[in-house]
Amino acid sequence: MLIGVFSDIHSNLEALTAVFDFFKANRVDLLLCCGDIVGYGPDPQACIEQLRSARIKVVAGNHDWGVTGRISIDHFNHLAARAIQWTKTQLSETEITYLRGLPLILDFGPIHLVHSAPSDPAGWDYIHTLDDAAEEMGAFTAQICLIGHTHIPMAVERIAGQRTRLITFNPFSIRENGKYLINVGGVGQPRDRDPRACCVIIDLIQKQVTFHRLVYDYTITQRKIATVGLPLYLAQRLEMGI
Ligand code: ZN
Repeated sequence: MLIGVFSDIHSNLEALTAVFDFFKANRVDLLLCCGDIVGYGPDPQACIEQLRSARIKVVAGNHDWGVTGRISIDHFNHLAARAIQWTKTQLSETEITYLRGLPLILDFGPIHLVHSAPSDPAGWDYIHTLDDAAEEMGAFTAQICLIGHTHIPMAVERIAGQRTRLITFNPFSIRENGKYLINVGGVGQPRDRDPRACCVIIDLIQKQVTFHRLVYDYTITQRKIATVGLPLYLAQRLEMGI
């Protein structure tokens, strides 16, 4: 069984379309999304519609709940906050209700899904380092925990009785006695200086995880950002991958 995992679409329809086309071409059986469908980008409605109509399993991101008022956006930076305010004006009541209803946590077989830190999904902490990740390994009982939020792909493994270590190769194997925390990277606003959309395929039969990077035409997204009047930096950063 192949599971396609993606996160942090941030209203970037061009990047989301590239990821969906890729999953389709690879005959993925199930799609899981680690949240932040909206925020920053110019196509919130279309992105929500793509996920809703395909009945994809999605957990809530801080931007998703920020738009609905379910959490405060006081701590968002000014660019994020401006994009949230604009996004609010674009969505119907049905779409707001959909975002508000997204759960913080989902479980599917050996997989635990959350947007930020599994130890406190509603705290929206960032897991940036190996040390951050190591502290989280006891916070979930599933074999694999999938997260997003930093927009930077990362995978760590803890073999029973050993220290947590960073996985530096791709693809990598899920070992019987291993436990994994995997940040699936960002679709619509990657921040690891690689502008290509990031996604992951997990093969539950072969026990293998593969990160993929997909080229898409971000100049279309950039033009849309300018047209709707969102801050131009949100367009510029797409080509830099920051
Ligand atoms: Zn995000």
